[in-house]
Order: sequence, then C-alpha cells, then structure tokens
Amino acid sequence: MKGSNRFTDDWTARRAVATTLSMIEPQSDEYFMREALRQALKAGKADEVPVGAVIVRAGKVIARAHNQIELLKDATAHAEMLALTQAEAGVGDWRLTDCDLYVTKEPCAMCAGAIVHTRVRRVIFGCADPAAGAAGSVINLLQMPTLNHRCDIAAGVLQDECAEILQSFFRERRDSRNKIDSLEGD
Ligand SMILES: [Zn+2]
Repeated sequence: MKGSNRFTDDWTARRAVATTLSMIEPQSDEYFMREALRQALKAGKADEVPVGAVIVRAGKVIARAHNQIELLKDATAHAEMLALTQAEAGVGDWRLTDCDLYVTKEPCAMCAGAIVHTRVRRVIFGCADPAAGAAGSVINLLQMPTLNHRCDIAAGVLQDECAEILQSFFRERRDSRNKIDSLEGD
C-alpha cells in the first residue's frame, strides 16, 4: 500500500479492538497495559525502541511516558524512569507506595532499582526480557530479600501484543537497513 507503514497500520487496527475491550473492563490490568501500549506506539513512531509505561494511583493514570533515549540523547531515558519522575511530581513525594507501574517490557536493572527506591507497590509488565530483565528473567531486583522494599509483580499481561510491537519495530528497522545496503551495493 502506497505511503503506508505496516507498523502503524497493524497498530491502528489493534487499537480499535483495544478501545472496545477497555470500555468493558475499566479497571483491569489489561486496561492500564493498553495505556502503556499506546505509549509504546508513540515511541515507535518517533523511531525509539517501543516501550511504554504508565503509573496508576487510586484507579487513575498519574504518569505516562515512553522511551526517549534518542530524542533526549540519554541512555537513562527509559519509559519507567520518565514515568517515575512524572509520578513523583504529581504526588508531591518521592514515595510512590500506593502507586502501580505498568510497563510493556520487563524492567531493566536501572529501572528496577529506581522502582525499589520510589517504593512502587506493584509492577505489572507485558513481555519478559530474557537478556536483561531485572524482574525475574536475569535477576529479580524487585523482590530482593536484602533490600528495604519489595514490589508485587504481575508478569505477562498482554505479553503477545507487548512483544509484537517490539518485534515489528526491529523487523522494519532491519528491512529498511537491508534496502539501504542493497541500494548501496548497486
Ligand atoms: Zn530500564
């Protein structure tokens, strides 16, 4: 299709379904994970690795963020880090003890460390990260017996969609690189 973007088209279709489902179950983990997925989609459109996060307090989203490493030229600008800072500002406290963090991909060690520091109550993530996940895949920093705070974890919420958005992104990136390589080879 001329001028179309497979990544965006897939997601437009899925978002329509997501919106319908969200209306049925307004307070479920799936509902808030869809919000995080919307953030991940924004990251993908901005050519950032598509990971999104939201923080929920008393049933309301108080922070929304997506990965902005390229834009900010900052390797620490992961979705979770940006969402935590927003939530702290919103709550007016560094303690987020009654907040839950939803993120499309399992947090890395840096983010898991920040999540423990801010005392987030619950972490809900989509797909696991077998290479660098710090919520159980490689290490579980969110539930270290020796640290002064431990979070509840819910893994695998909408995991297929959370994984697919990443896979599509890297597939498209690979395809466009191959195209450039083959043009340069001519
Ligand atoms: Zn991270």
